[in-house]
Amino acid sequence: MLRVGVIGAGTMGAAIAALFANADYDVVLVDVSEEALKKAKERHEGEILRELMEAGLKKRDDLVSKIKYTLDIKDLGNCSFVVEAIVEKLPVKIELLEKLEHLVSEDCIIATNTSSFKPSELAVKLKRPDRFTLFHFSNPPILREIVEVGGETLAEEYMQEVLEIVKSIGKEPVVLRKDSRGHVFNRFLCAAVAAIGWDLGKFSPPQIDAAIKSLGSPVGFFELLDHIGIDVLLMVQDSLIEAHGDRFELSKGFRWLLERMVEWGKLGKKSGEGFYRWINGRATVPEAEPADILPMAAATVNEALREIEEGLADRDTVNRAYSLALGSPVGILDVAEMLGYATILDALEKKYGETGAETFKPCEMLKGMV
Ligand code: NAD
Repeated sequence: MLRVGVIGAGTMGAAIAALFANADYDVVLVDVSEEALKKAKERHEGEILRELMEAGLKKRDDLVSKIKYTLDIKDLGNCSFVVEAIVEKLPVKIELLEKLEHLVSEDCIIATNTSSFKPSELAVKLKRPDRFTLFHFSNPPILREIVEVGGETLAEEYMQEVLEIVKSIGKEPVVLRKDSRGHVFNRFLCAAVAAIGWDLGKFSPPQIDAAIKSLGSPVGFFELLDHIGIDVLLMVQDSLIEAHGDRFELSKGFRWLLERMVEWGKLGKKSGEGFYRWINGRATVPEAEPADILPMAAATVNEALREIEEGLADRDTVNRAYSLALGSPVGILDVAEMLGYATILDALEKKYGETGAETFKPCEMLKGMV
């Protein structure tokens, strides 16, 4: 059995380590913070076991006995697969990956759970970028089946090994061969974030979440933002703005709100409060009348079509990625087809006229389709 390393014991790393331990791998979990390792261990003894059960994946009760919790990165020395899940900052990740490559053997596969950066941007200091892969989970990582893998760096000869690792922990790989900041899922997630800020004066988070759930999603939109962490969300959103421009920009009011939430420590599930209060790992979401989320849905479809237009992924991959990443029975293009592309275009043009926000500017593919 492979020995696997996970770097970063936060929201994602702790859960990823648990998925590997549950699948009988020996796991080394590294963090720079003793507190983070302690919290990860507590999650492995409670909340994460419950999630594994809920996901139908639970194979063992003693995750902790399969995991070495350590502050010493050198403990990763004899791992055959290492995935990093540290803070979403490009220079920090590049430095870590360079250091890691010197510690592991030549045949170790190195992976990144980055939400936004391109594998090719992260691999600039690696001697063997051909053994470096995207390995991007969705949140909550135990419950959502998707792992986006591949990217432009990974050589074809190692792809099979990567796919087998994904399947061995009970997940479904979505293979991407083109690099793009935000990959497939986070591009349309961040388009939706950019869009919804314009309607927050009109509708509350519980109303928006009620509408999303009525489309079949098991999780509300703001509940998902709380899962992600507001600090992480802002880093990812800014990374997409840097790469793709203003169409990911937030309304002034929404940016102000998110920045204050970070300042006040209202980070979401991990701090116990974000848009909602979190009790025993669950959000307390009040009942509410569903909002009109057509503009947000239209902006999400618009970004999905841009991905297809750019050749990042084909229609079925984009559609499947949405459904797997949200645990939704339908994909984003199924939603688009139910609504009709003419309705989507009309909603975008109206909202673009009202706000001037680039996220609502219809893409060429949509205009061509209508
Ligand atoms: P987090 O803030 O919860 O955890 C990050 C952890 O990394 C912290 O415990 C921190 O102490 C540790 N860390 C920072 N620098 C380190 C270093 N040099 N060496 C070792 N440990 C270090 O963040 P997260 O939400 O778990 O996100 C981690 C990564 O996963 C990011 O790249 C993020 O974009 C990505 N990701 C996040 C989500 C999400 O929904 N939160 C989903 C998919 C991918």
